[in-house]
Amino acid sequence: MSGFTTRAVHAGQEPDRLTGAVIPPIYQTSTFVQDGINVLRDGHEYSRGSNPTRNGFEEQLCALEGGFRAFSFASGIAAEDALLRALLRPGDHVILGGDGYGGTNRLISRVLAPWQVAHSPVDVTNPDAVRGAFTDKTRVLWVETPTNPLLGIADLATLAQLAHDHGTLLVVDNTFASPYLQRPFEFGADVVVHSTTKYVGGHSDVLGGAVVVTDKAWEVAEVNGFSPGATLAELLAFQQFAGGAVSGPQDSYLAARGLKTLALRMERHQANAGRIAQWLTERPEVAEVLYPGLPDHPGHELAARQMDGFGGMVSFRLAAGEAAARRFAESTHMYKLSVSLGGVESLICWPSEMTHGCVVGTDQAVPTDLVRLSVGIEDLEDHLEDLERAFTS
Ligand SMILES: *Cc1c(COP(=O)(O)O)cnc(C)c1O
Repeated sequence: MSGFTTRAVHAGQEPDRLTGAVIPPIYQTSTFVQDGINVLRDGHEYSRGSNPTRNGFEEQLCALEGGFRAFSFASGIAAEDALLRALLRPGDHVILGGDGYGGTNRLISRVLAPWQVAHSPVDVTNPDAVRGAFTDKTRVLWVETPTNPLLGIADLATLAQLAHDHGTLLVVDNTFASPYLQRPFEFGADVVVHSTTKYVGGHSDVLGGAVVVTDKAWEVAEVNGFSPGATLAELLAFQQFAGGAVSGPQDSYLAARGLKTLALRMERHQANAGRIAQWLTERPEVAEVLYPGLPDHPGHELAARQMDGFGGMVSFRLAAGEAAARRFAESTHMYKLSVSLGGVESLICWPSEMTHGCVVGTDQAVPTDLVRLSVGIEDLEDHLEDLERAFTS
């Protein structure tokens, strides 16, 4: 198999067969002409089922994760919803990282709970806590690593073993690391999900999500009309078509275009992030810097083994508490005050009531003295100048 960036540029992105256009066209069409009743060209019938632009992106992402098949959706949450509804039935139970994307928690606790899907939030950086959370109804262990926004590191190989010992699937949300820095299938994960809105798209100009699966069969008795032994790919292909939350051709194109430069962007994101994290440790205003690249981070050694770098997200706690954290988040110039992450431009947020507003008052609430940076690719001096100004303003 060719190298990562070669695959990023070429997998699923062959020149147009008809015209030779180097960049495959954006197939902005809902339907495809048939040469006779149900005689399809290249298998395309209707764009909810398949569309060459979407399929090209799915192949490209799949090649980078090293999966069996990928499915692209209109958002990360749409991808998660399709995955969970493909796998679960009323009465089933999900173990979910407590320190994770707030929207995933909301999807499970507010959209799926009324359909009798139960869940237990746990600290996924603690395998004993995870082990203790399995019930005989557990079907899915859902993990993000690095976690959001505390940037803890979960041991994927250990969690995959635990999940499989209990006959469940390990699902890894790989949004924060991206496939350039972490490929969960190498550690035994069964499913990888992405918000392609973030590093995959990389330019804060598109919403999207994806589910990537191995060729594993799902042995759970009769799920959603499938008999035991149906593959994850069959379940997801059906759910994507029947549920319909697909990514459109324009969005698929933007995600594919972004993915081609993932390696270059991630290198710069994490070079900047590493320097900024170090610089923050030397600031008297900062009580704690949360970045897995720092040698005293509790997950540092694990991250060094499991990842090919430490990523572009940095969180830190202000010694002076909540008011100082809020003021800091509102004081930067180059860092824009926004939710989301993973674009070339730097973003800052106050997770407590921005990204994690939906878990305020629960056990999953995040510290109010915490600020989160999505470190962009701008020049390092400009980062430091902007952050310095915010400390002293
Ligand atoms: C943003 C995000 C999601 C949700 O994706 P959308 O594209 O916003 O629907 C899921 N997981 C993680 C880790 C995210 O950062």
